[in-house]
Amino acid sequence: MPSLDPATRQALEARLRFYRELGLTDFYRRPVAASEAAVADSAGVSAAAETIIEEPQAQSSFEENPSIPPRKPIFAPPPVSDVLEQDRAAGLRAIQDDIGDCTRCALHKGRNKLVFGDGDPNARLMFVGEGPGADEDAQGLPFVGRAGQLLNNMIGAMGLKREQVYIANVVKCRPPQNRTPEPEEANTCSPFLFRQIDVIRPEVIVALGATAATYLLGQRQPLAGLRGRVHSFRGTKLIVTYHPAFLLRDPRQKKEAWADLQIAMRELGLKAPSKSET
Ligand code: SF4
Repeated sequence: MPSLDPATRQALEARLRFYRELGLTDFYRRPVAASEAAVADSAGVSAAAETIIEEPQAQSSFEENPSIPPRKPIFAPPPVSDVLEQDRAAGLRAIQDDIGDCTRCALHKGRNKLVFGDGDPNARLMFVGEGPGADEDAQGLPFVGRAGQLLNNMIGAMGLKREQVYIANVVKCRPPQNRTPEPEEANTCSPFLFRQIDVIRPEVIVALGATAATYLLGQRQPLAGLRGRVHSFRGTKLIVTYHPAFLLRDPRQKKEAWADLQIAMRELGLKAPSKSET
């Protein structure tokens, strides 16, 4: 059997995984015409690639009862839900397409750029803030102003790079004068955040500030009562800490915030980098 190049092998394995997830485990061999086999051989995909052109065995009920519609062609594109599972980046793009040039709440009136989110779609750690500020509104990216600098430092202190985490907000458009989003605005926008979380499926979420904690946990409580422990949100561990903008105003609380981040690190099995590594 000729050996396969890694890309072809990966494609074959992905396709077989897809079938297994659909519950299709029985295959029969479709006879391959001599001319077809010759073409396959010349492309270097003959013997092993035959498994790809083998089709799942049709169930007898379909053959016996012509009134039952035939099984869908097996090479049709996978259903959207499968695509979301298999390709988180594609899942996030689908959500972004769905949001489009959103006018679902009043915040669209004052925005320059909608701030969808930023980072690794396969991140183990996700940060959720309140909403974009002026810098974020101008650039279309979350946490890029002074608070973003501090968040970058916090991420670095955890031994991670910003590109390794995912960052999003409860609302995707800047509230006027950086006010707290109204409940109607947050409730309209947050389902998109929840969908992002469902696609990324991080192991740990860190809620930055009271607004993020309120809409993720579905309860309004003083931050002091929520910090220092591990909550659960849609099957993901959730830790609450101060918003970096608050830490800029009251740097004495940085020590408390670091204690919260250490809880997240413990849950992720991370060790703080030594001084020589920072
Ligand atoms: Fe749409 Fe969210 Fe922006 Fe409101 S904040 S307009 S719901 S994207």
